[in-house]
Amino acid sequence: MNSGHPGDGFGETSGRACRHCGGALRFEAGTSELRCSHCGGVSPISPSGEVAERDYAAHLEAAAGERETGEFFEAPCEKCGARTVIPEHEAAGSCPFCGWPMVYGYAARRMRPDALLPFALSRDLAVGRLRAWIAGLRFAPAGLGRHARIDDAVSGVYVPFYTYDVLTRTRYRGERGEYHYTTENRTFREGGRTVTRSQRVRHTRWSPVGGTVDLPFDDILVHAGKSLPARRADLIEPWDLAKLVPYSDDYLRGFRAEACRLGLGEGFALAREKAAPAVYSAVRKRIGGDEQRIHSAETEYFDITFKYILLPVWMSVFRFRGKSYPIFINARTGEVEGERPYSAWKIAGAAALALLVLILALAWLR
Ligand SMILES: [Zn+2]
Ligand SMILES: [Zn+2]
Repeated sequence: MNSGHPGDGFGETSGRACRHCGGALRFEAGTSELRCSHCGGVSPISPSGEVAERDYAAHLEAAAGERETGEFFEAPCEKCGARTVIPEHEAAGSCPFCGWPMVYGYAARRMRPDALLPFALSRDLAVGRLRAWIAGLRFAPAGLGRHARIDDAVSGVYVPFYTYDVLTRTRYRGERGEYHYTTENRTFREGGRTVTRSQRVRHTRWSPVGGTVDLPFDDILVHAGKSLPARRADLIEPWDLAKLVPYSDDYLRGFRAEACRLGLGEGFALAREKAAPAVYSAVRKRIGGDEQRIHSAETEYFDITFKYILLPVWMSVFRFRGKSYPIFINARTGEVEGERPYSAWKIAGAAALALLVLILALAWLR
């Protein structure tokens, strides 16, 4: 491997060149190998260690007062020697002068990821998925498939996430509602006459309840970067987190990587929000009966552990009639999510057709 680069922590890039020809090595999606872009020679990535959970409380204490400073730093390209200002939130990219893949590393005061899911879908497959997605869009403007330009802007990015494991204990007070039925005589007006009929009537009997519910959570995912819009981050789930591998710079070569931009505590606040609906429904289930009222519910969080991980996303923007539409592809499953143009005419046409069908159906029923 390489040596001779400055070892001052900041501005350090770890590099690997092909041992046959000195060409650039890049991680080959779908494999566990680096491939030389010049001679095609391969070099296996050797896994090291195991993926372990970290203790939240201990880490939070250790990291107190430690924040990203927003300082710029420079790194030299190990191929051409040019010094580049590294964007603050980038952890891997390429030399702007010669294109050499660079991993700047997660410098000392940034947290180093524990694990990652390597890219499984190659760029070609991602482009294919994207084309198929565009072709399959309903209510798309005419000519979208032919005119959307995508190939030039598909880039692979490792996006930072936290995953939290936690045991929740919720103390609740509320009421259980149980249905019971009575038969009552009711009077109706029918065709100008008053008739009396017996009818089954539902009542709810409420009784006070209270207690505690324990609910464990495994791998609550929280997006810790900014490269995915908040709404999209959840949409490209699920991720096969059981296949996480220990972090290694090698998986980043030839890709971009975003550094974490969210504090561990801020991330946990979002994890609590994500867990809340499940806690709430567990309380409802425990209360039982036919209906539930919750007057108070207080949740405590125990045994919190976390992992800081990177997940692989192909990102693209396609341009159509002067507008840009960002697209995200889960590079494990091929799931495509993104914004898209609609044809106002086709939607209006479909709505008009639906209305016509409704009118005909009503006419038929009369
Ligand atoms: Zn080579
Ligand atoms: Zn260079």
